[in-house]
Amino acid sequence: MSDDVLSVIPTDPWWQPEASQAERARGLVTTLVPWNPDSIEPEVSLTWHESVALVDCGANLERITCPRCENEVDTDWWRALLDDRYEDGFNDLSAVLPCCGRQSSLADLHYDWPCGFARFEIEIWNPGRSWLTEGELAAIAAEIGHPVRQVMAHI
Ligand SMILES: [Zn+2]
Repeated sequence: MSDDVLSVIPTDPWWQPEASQAERARGLVTTLVPWNPDSIEPEVSLTWHESVALVDCGANLERITCPRCENEVDTDWWRALLDDRYEDGFNDLSAVLPCCGRQSSLADLHYDWPCGFARFEIEIWNPGRSWLTEGELAAIAAEIGHPVRQVMAHI
């Protein structure tokens, strides 16, 4: 049994909304994932993380590329670095990339499918639909008070 989880996260990994902003965003998100009785009922949850957390796309991660030189980033290198940084709650996301020796934030690497880092997430379990549109993301951003992006995980 596997689940699809669509996460909406602030573009800034450290940013967190007030509870009232988050609840307004949840109300809106709930209207974007109407329950089709033939499928599992979607469930929308809010999570505030104490420190920055990896918001992973699970089995959907195919490749990572460098935002500077556009070469592929070794995923084994990436996973080992994440293991290292996990203990510190990803307090430091900066990395010197193996492809070109240049510096980047891990949050700025190009993940295919998208992954992110966040201290807050809106998780939609079994959304029963595909990606949110740019317009829907903009509407959620307006409720929450910060630009957002999305991660689709298959776990
Ligand atoms: Zn590079």
